[in-house]
Amino acid sequence: MKCKKCGARASVNMRQHRMALCKEHFVEWIPEQTERFIKKYNMFARDEKILVAVSGGKDSLSLWDILVRLGYQADGLYLGLGIDGGVQYSSESHRLTDEFAKRHNLKLHVVDIEGEYGYSIPVLSDISHRGKGKPCSVCGLTKRHEMNRIARDLGYDVLATGHNLDDEAAVLFGNTLQWSSDYLLRQGPVLPSKDGLARKVKPLCRFYEREMTAYAIARGIEYIYDECPYAEGATQIFYKETLNQLENSRPGAKLTFYLRFLEARQSGNLFIEKDREAAYNIHPCERCGQPTSAPELCSFCRMLEKAKTVSE
Ligand code: SF4
Ligand code: ZN
Ligand code: ZN
Repeated sequence: MKCKKCGARASVNMRQHRMALCKEHFVEWIPEQTERFIKKYNMFARDEKILVAVSGGKDSLSLWDILVRLGYQADGLYLGLGIDGGVQYSSESHRLTDEFAKRHNLKLHVVDIEGEYGYSIPVLSDISHRGKGKPCSVCGLTKRHEMNRIARDLGYDVLATGHNLDDEAAVLFGNTLQWSSDYLLRQGPVLPSKDGLARKVKPLCRFYEREMTAYAIARGIEYIYDECPYAEGATQIFYKETLNQLENSRPGAKLTFYLRFLEARQSGNLFIEKDREAAYNIHPCERCGQPTSAPELCSFCRMLEKAKTVSE
């Protein structure tokens, strides 16, 4: 496999784009694409102040790295969740985030949830009875609350998170299985600021997880490999695995699933069957009379027409 740009030996093969790149061109391609997505979805402008939520994982540290390389004003926010049973998840991720910020001379805000509110996430979860032993809902709620608070108090225009395509496709898959229309209508690369909530953006939402891993490694970013111990067995992981199986036999399926959803949402056609029919200008096919949106013949009649010319 050869790099599409220089012909050297490729180190990353992106089957969904039918493109392979060498390490050097891959680490250039990722920021170029990110910049394209930032513009395409109107995420933020050059003069806006960005707060990047960093967890010490590959996605958020890579996002920070990319935004800084692109010349944006991006500071970091690390939330200390106090999840330290067994793998020392919080202390290790804090250490790696700190190191990254120091090495690149970047500004990092740190909020320790226990220091701020008196309880770590697992304790808060147990005592609030919002899910004993399974703190994810308390954790998610707390993270959203704190990110928003810091963004507002410190005057940031926008909050950026490192969600990648695998994350977004898994959430979309879950919401689709449940037909949660409210969630579906809100899911996207940009959530505009509203009623005192900061604008939220996901600049990496079109990159596969393995591309982000490749980027972090190629850039020499030290990140925490372990997942949060509570992530184990989460439904989202099951959805990710299911989508990966699909992707293996149909490269690009994940990306298409997500992008087509965004297109449908953008055009306002999601769930609005009546309007969609009007937009397609349905009329009877000139030959068979069945409804079609094609100018003269329906697809079936066109297919027959083609078959005839080929067999003649
Ligand atoms: Fe929080 Fe861990 Fe659950 Fe993620 S997996 S929401 S970090 S408790
Ligand atoms: Zn190359
Ligand atoms: Zn509140």
